[in-house]
Amino acid sequence: MTAQLLQARELLRKSTRIAVLTGAGISAESGIPTFRGAGGLWKDFRPEELATPQAFGRDPQTVWEWYLWRRDLIAQAQPNAGHRALVELENRTPEFTLITQNVDGLHDRAGSRRILKVHGDIWINRCRACGREMGQLPSEPLPHCACGGLLRPGVVWFGESLPQDVWREAEHAASQADVFLVVGTSALVYPAAGLISFAQQNGAAVIEVNLEQTTFSDTADVCLRGPAGEILPQII
Ligand code: NAD
Ligand code: ZN
Repeated sequence: MTAQLLQARELLRKSTRIAVLTGAGISAESGIPTFRGAGGLWKDFRPEELATPQAFGRDPQTVWEWYLWRRDLIAQAQPNAGHRALVELENRTPEFTLITQNVDGLHDRAGSRRILKVHGDIWINRCRACGREMGQLPSEPLPHCACGGLLRPGVVWFGESLPQDVWREAEHAASQADVFLVVGTSALVYPAAGLISFAQQNGAAVIEVNLEQTTFSDTADVCLRGPAGEILPQII
């Protein structure tokens, strides 16, 4: 085991207050494509054409088709060793918060309990007009709410604000943490990425797990290069 892995393991073992920020990279080994990085979805699709309220306003049918395709991919996927390691970390840590940018629900399926979904949940259908949420989609090509409004996926699109309560809890957890573990995020999407420096300014040691270098790699206390599904079980 390398010195970096040992250092990360020690930090996590000694800490009683841990916050974790995950991104699409933790689900990559489950077969769900990331947005950026190798094999990322943005290579084949333009986000501004799909993941914005304007795109949905212009062409809701195409946006729905893209989300139904992603839901299909996610439904076939299983949580991996990285998701499971975080469940173990939660079980042994007195104060633990998992902040995720992922909308796939794999942390829930792995068994994590305290999850803050700062970018929403792809499995939620929400009425654009009245805000009502529905688990099951009515079977029509372009699903509508009983009030007549269009249903949309319950994710946070580019240009939209984050759910206020969830975000406040995420900031609180980041400010209280003595270790902030960042897994599989390009850390380019704000305000979520801002939690990393916020945690560090408030005294947390930052551990980064990623396949590639990110803008936070230089300032992180420990940087671990490699797949989350292999690294996390070694440090937890
Ligand atoms: P991103 O696509 O921008 O970045 C993914 C990062 O993960 C990259 O830095 C990449 O190097 C790293 N990575 C890839 N495979 C990895 C692995 N096996 N182990 C460790 N790291 C790995 O994703 P992001 O930072 O989460 O941000 C973008 C937005 O994309 C988020 O808002 C999120 O809502 C959305 N998104 C979610 C999902 C999902 O729910 N699974 C999938 C794609 C995008
Ligand atoms: Zn409605």
